Amino acid sequence: TEEMLRNTEKLIFAGQLAVSIAHEVRNPLTTVKGMLQLSGKQLKPHFYTTMMSELDRMNLIVSEFMILGKPQNIIFKEEQCLAILQEVLTIFEFQATMNGITLECEFTQSLEIRCDRNQMKQMFLNILKNAMEALPYGGMIHVHLDAVDADQRIRITDNGEGMTEEVMSKIGEPFHTTKPEGNGLGMMIVQKIIATHQGRMKIASKRNEGTTVDIYLPCTIR
Ligand code: ADP
Ligand code: MG
Repeated sequence: TEEMLRNTEKLIFAGQLAVSIAHEVRNPLTTVKGMLQLSGKQLKPHFYTTMMSELDRMNLIVSEFMILGKPQNIIFKEEQCLAILQEVLTIFEFQATMNGITLECEFTQSLEIRCDRNQMKQMFLNILKNAMEALPYGGMIHVHLDAVDADQRIRITDNGEGMTEEVMSKIGEPFHTTKPEGNGLGMMIVQKIIATHQGRMKIASKRNEGTTVDIYLPCTIR
């Protein structure tokens, strides 16, 4: 309907606005951080570290929004999904062991998909990070690769906190977070990356039982 169209236009406009603000904010942020690094010795150590980590947090938000704009240096190539996934899993192995989390990956079928390697890594990273954060007291994360029709399916399951219907319905909305230290941008980026690759995502979750994220990626994209 007309109203839906108008809402879509508003959203697109808000998105473009966010991206251009992010670009504008980045340079002054870099300046402030540089000057803080130079004059940090004059500050109380606690003030210095807090200011640095808050600046890092701002930088992270800014760079996540910039991904939403025209992502630079996208290179679509035929890649083995499993190889990319394994690189990301390596990053989490240590943290998983430390937190008593079993991290398993198995594959029935790993297909070649046409994708941008960096974006794929970012996508797996954001989803696995959420799975880890849903398991503060240990548990398991299971990754499974198989093929459904002509799509590669990547299933990431955790037996952590899970989500209420309400939280789940807002997934992908910017700044929607239930975490004190979260920024609510991770899943927005994931959705954007999946759309760029003409894939789709399904999430199933139950409070106190866990979450399953299914990603379907076509082997070839137009
Ligand atoms: P953030 O992780 O910074 O909060 P995200 O966009 O990555 O932002 O996730 C948004 C919200 O979705 C999270 O705050 C959390 O409530 C919920 N969520 C996402 N993944 C999971 C998961 N695997 N288990 C439980 N909740 C999740
Ligand atoms: Mg997250």
